[in-house]
Amino acid sequence: MPDKNFPLSGFSSAAVHAGHETDPRYAHLVPIYASSTYVFDTAEQGMRRFSGEEPGYIYSRWGNPTITEAEEKISALETFGLDMQVKGILHASGMAAIGSLMLGNLKTGDKILTHYSLYGGTEELIHKVLPPLGITAVISDLRKLDTVEDIVKKDSAIKMMYLETPANPTMQCVDLEELSMIAKRHHLLVACDNTFATPYLQQPFKYDVDFVMHSTTKFLNGHGTAIGGILLGRDIELMNHKMTKTHRLLGGNANPFDTFLLIVGIKTLELRMERHCHNATEVADYLVLHPQVARVNYAGLSSHPDHYTAMKQMRHAGAMLSFELKGGLQAGIDFMNRLKMCVRTVSLGTCDTLLSHPASMTHYGVPKEQREQYGITDGLIRMNVGIENVQDIIKDLEQSLIIS
Ligand code: PLP
Repeated sequence: MPDKNFPLSGFSSAAVHAGHETDPRYAHLVPIYASSTYVFDTAEQGMRRFSGEEPGYIYSRWGNPTITEAEEKISALETFGLDMQVKGILHASGMAAIGSLMLGNLKTGDKILTHYSLYGGTEELIHKVLPPLGITAVISDLRKLDTVEDIVKKDSAIKMMYLETPANPTMQCVDLEELSMIAKRHHLLVACDNTFATPYLQQPFKYDVDFVMHSTTKFLNGHGTAIGGILLGRDIELMNHKMTKTHRLLGGNANPFDTFLLIVGIKTLELRMERHCHNATEVADYLVLHPQVARVNYAGLSSHPDHYTAMKQMRHAGAMLSFELKGGLQAGIDFMNRLKMCVRTVSLGTCDTLLSHPASMTHYGVPKEQREQYGITDGLIRMNVGIENVQDIIKDLEQSLIIS
């Protein structure tokens, strides 16, 4: 841990050092504490640990030193440069973190206000898992602020505003500051999935949101080596008690090996995100001018409908973009088959450039009219722009975009 009296000036220093405790055996990096349980010197010490009188680990579903380091590191990054503290609870996956958020804060009869373009898993959780528990959703275009204010004014059952920005697949962005102000006026909790942006590009806590979640599987890990998630909250009391209890009892705890990979990945977050964003901007500029491309969705382009919102709250527009090919479904399939370096797969957040064709892959079973409502047209390609030499990325796109 850097000396507490040595204030870190840059995000990158915090990404490397924050959360680290000097190891009692002088290991440079935090060890992978592969131990399910922890020893008490005496029965009295066991009693003190259980009563909370003495800090210390008891059982790894409840806490583990490798996991603590990641929780503290990500908390430090989400609040870097802000005069505040948050508490993070690492989970086995992004979905586990979102599940804890919902189950720990909502009860039968409550409603969530959210938008159309959520990650598919979150959407299914909201539409399939929560309604049998009596928790339902109100879906609206949260870019229309007057409508949002009207909805929350009229429906006192709405208890949480759930945001994801930028969001799949059109990189739609919502205004964190404005929405959070509306939520506070009506006493709603606000939660923001910050997976696509990372704390380097966007810090939702700056705008008074209550919770931030990540699928750490993505850019925080950065290399596609492990699944993970985190729930961070500004109400330390709530996080230390109710949310910690919820997490422990639902059992979606992270494991120390995956967490070690996450910690190593986070150290290079700033470097990777700078390169990802630089490459994404060049790729977007290239695609916009290509005759085979009908439309490019990248929040960094001034033509994107939410460009102003993105630039207001993000350092750069991120690594994710999507584009629509002229020629529909077959054009999408042919394009994917021609790729030579970029990888055909569905995830995101890795150093490698990844492309997917939702109509033939993730959304294959979704009726065309339904997916088109979300902007998933037949020829839409989603791209995680990697950190390779950008000329190589563009060269691969060029030879895959041949006019047939
Ligand atoms: N949130 C977003 C924005 C995602 O893209 C994903 C997964 O792709 C998740 C949450 C869920 O994360 P995980 O797959 O780690 O459970």
